[in-house]
Amino acid sequence: MGKLPIEQYILEAFKRNKCKQVHQEVYKLAEELVRRCWKEDVFIVFTDGLRTFEDQAVIYGKGRSSYVYKGKEYGNPKVKKVSNAKPGNSFHNFGLALDFVTCDGYGKNIDWNVGPKWRRAAVIAKELGFTWGGDWASFKDYPHIQYDGGLTISQIQAGKMPTFKRVSSIIYKGDLTVSQYNELKKLIEEQQKEINKLKAEKADAKGDNVASSHQDAWKWAKEKGLFDGSNPAGAFTRQQAATVFQRFNNLKCCLGQD
Ligand SMILES: [Zn+2]
Repeated sequence: MGKLPIEQYILEAFKRNKCKQVHQEVYKLAEELVRRCWKEDVFIVFTDGLRTFEDQAVIYGKGRSSYVYKGKEYGNPKVKKVSNAKPGNSFHNFGLALDFVTCDGYGKNIDWNVGPKWRRAAVIAKELGFTWGGDWASFKDYPHIQYDGGLTISQIQAGKMPTFKRVSSIIYKGDLTVSQYNELKKLIEEQQKEINKLKAEKADAKGDNVASSHQDAWKWAKEKGLFDGSNPAGAFTRQQAATVFQRFNNLKCCLGQD
């Protein structure tokens, strides 16, 4: 089936109409809705977001022989009636509503069937504080979610605004942002430095373990290349002895040539 990486998927989800132009806090919550759905392989895109009063007049005019708003005729009887909300009567007009549909993991193949995934998206939307149009008794508006904070449209028209919920965003493994990646890289580099320092200290400590009575000899043997200087207190096997004798013999022959 497959799906786009989340950051790309979000661009797909909001690219239609004025979906990105909703209220800033509504946008944040809607983005989080898309993220949470994506994580569960529930894919939604938005089809409608902010509608200006003029946009609403166009919608209201559909299926009506005449509708005049601010001196302009918006009647469009040739098409089906789609809305009973006049300009200013929809939460969309205040950037507080969005309409969604389900689709595939690439934001394509839109599916208007109100199936289990659609209903799951609605549940997540409600968790985030949205009201879902599918819950309305009189007219079920399945694609519609609005952030009303319990306020009526008249209260919104009078200038009130809902209090927005603070939600913490989900962070996905394997989907780091560039700044998160840089942060992590810096942390790893710092820890690597620390580890190297400790390793060097440990090696020094080992060198100090040479007993005082053997220190001169150990230093000489190291300088002449008989021993590499590691593990001074370690046991000496017959095969290691053979190597050291051979090194000593080579050393003697070279010295002898001087
Ligand atoms: Zn709507």
